[in-house]
Amino acid sequence: MRHIPRKTLAIAVVALLLTPLLAVAGGAWRDKTDALRDSINGGHADNVILLIGDGMGDSEITIARNYHVGAAGRLSLDTLPLTGAMTTYAVQEAHPNLPDYVPDSAATGTAWATGTKTSNGRISTTPGTDLDLTTILELAQRKGLRTGDVSTAELTDATPAVLAAHVSARGCQGPTDMAACPQDKKAAGGPGSIAEQLVDHKVNVLLGGGKQRFDQKIDGGPFAGKTVIDSAIAQSYRVITKTSDLDALKSEKNVLGLFSSGNMSLEWSGALAQPFPGSGPQRCLEGQRPAEQPSLAAMTSTALTLLENKRGFFLQVEGASIDKQDHAANPCGQIGETIAFDAVIKVALDYQQKHPRTLVIVTADHGHTSQIIPPPTNAAQPGVFSKLTTADGTDMTVSYATSPVGASQEHTGTEVRVAAQGPRAANVVGVIDQTELYSIIVDVLRLKD
Ligand SMILES: [Zn+2]
Repeated sequence: MRHIPRKTLAIAVVALLLTPLLAVAGGAWRDKTDALRDSINGGHADNVILLIGDGMGDSEITIARNYHVGAAGRLSLDTLPLTGAMTTYAVQEAHPNLPDYVPDSAATGTAWATGTKTSNGRISTTPGTDLDLTTILELAQRKGLRTGDVSTAELTDATPAVLAAHVSARGCQGPTDMAACPQDKKAAGGPGSIAEQLVDHKVNVLLGGGKQRFDQKIDGGPFAGKTVIDSAIAQSYRVITKTSDLDALKSEKNVLGLFSSGNMSLEWSGALAQPFPGSGPQRCLEGQRPAEQPSLAAMTSTALTLLENKRGFFLQVEGASIDKQDHAANPCGQIGETIAFDAVIKVALDYQQKHPRTLVIVTADHGHTSQIIPPPTNAAQPGVFSKLTTADGTDMTVSYATSPVGASQEHTGTEVRVAAQGPRAANVVGVIDQTELYSIIVDVLRLKD
């Protein structure tokens, strides 16, 4: 080492301490042994809140953290002490004993909803043989628990669908969308589309988008010729369509909230990622969701109020458009949905603190495309890029390169984070498989005792 005069070194150290760089120094370590011991609780739970960030892999979390609170900042998701990694692979339709390494939301949702691996596109049915698989929500209903299913996607999209519908193809969302599952049509003696099955299952709280599916007419059974909304009202649902309706709810047995025709609007907007040299540097436009569509955190708070009861409840909440905007190579859309989902985690953790017999599980269904990379320097570099100016006051380059330019970006087969708080939360620590979430929830709620 070159000799540096002591005085120069001292000045340099003082200067370093005074620069803003201090804000991104590493984590402030302290021993966690006692805190972890205190957070381990081997009891049973009355309630489970399962929070799914769709497509929220480690990259998506890190991108949102860097942008919103800076590299050394922490999201609500990061405060959960018991954290593990989860494998997410699906199986092949023609060879159910072989993995399909890159899963979709239908297969991954089926894995935790039923404890069984299936093939991509299936909603709580077996690969190859198309048999219905019993779901956690169905078991919870049999035990007398109240149930809720909340999403920013259409309620008939795969992640909300897996809890209370059984169809061979995820596209069979409304009564007139049944081309891929003719055997499931009500006119053919089947259980009907996903929309019909969600309502017929009498899931107590259904909040999200997808009104277009529920406006379709039913083709068989006691409600033939009526819309799915008509059948919901006839089956004692209160049907609501805007934020003020949600805010006015006090106690309702069954609520169907349809706040958008398709997927709910995005929280944030900005420039899409572009081929070399990419879009940006940009800051995102926040607060883009119209006021008549509630935030996911508001839907979650209301769901908790409506579901709370002595016998307990099971609630799943999905932040759906992390995935959808990752597909679209829209970094601001993706980050805004991740931050909105993090606000839901805060709501759930606050609830858990006041109601300790609640297990909160936070995870993703599968990994996705976006990566933090060095700024591209070569026009031949594959993918599309965007530079975002982060909370640290510097630029971060995000790349999307799992599909040709302009095509929908693809999921990835990586493991994802899983974290939990409350009774038996320690079961998520280490490396688990997605199907184990089913067993953890069945066990902690004693659904099979
Ligand atoms: Zn997707």
